[in-house]
Amino acid sequence: PPDVEILGRATWTFLHTTAAYYPENPTPAHRTSMLSLLKSLPLLYPCVHCAAHLGENMKENPPKVGNRFELSKWLCERHNDVNVRLGKEKFDCAKVDERWRDGPPD
Ligand code: FAD
Repeated sequence: PPDVEILGRATWTFLHTTAAYYPENPTPAHRTSMLSLLKSLPLLYPCVHCAAHLGENMKENPPKVGNRFELSKWLCERHNDVNVRLGKEKFDCAKVDERWRDGPPD
């Protein structure tokens, strides 16, 4: 089975970075593609118990794909739900752009 931690770090990197560069004014095609990417995870993510948790979480908290700000926030909150469940620190969602897009201020 895959290494759950390496897979997790790689997947969060991909998802947060993709959210950080998602359009501010997405076309219907952007929204549909992002929704199917996110909705595919509970089915395809190769850590089966992670995928099951995510599926339950996404039922309560459906993906928000209206623009990059709400998508980044939604994803940060889902990641924080995992952090809390694993006993890790919560991440400050005001800092997602700094972490995943802009880098630290000068
Ligand atoms: P990670 O949690 O992988 O985070 C990587 C980096 O992202 C951090 O260093 C930090 O800079 C940044 N970051 C942290 N929190 C946030 C946030 N909220 N928003 C934005 N950036 C942030 N592991 C399990 O053991 N059980 C599970 O059920 C489980 N479910 C998962 C579900 C999904 C969808 C994914 C993608 C991963 C899951 N994982 C699960 C893996 C777990 O979330 C971590 O990836 C893994 O434990 C490695 O943790 P880490 O401390 O290296 O940092």
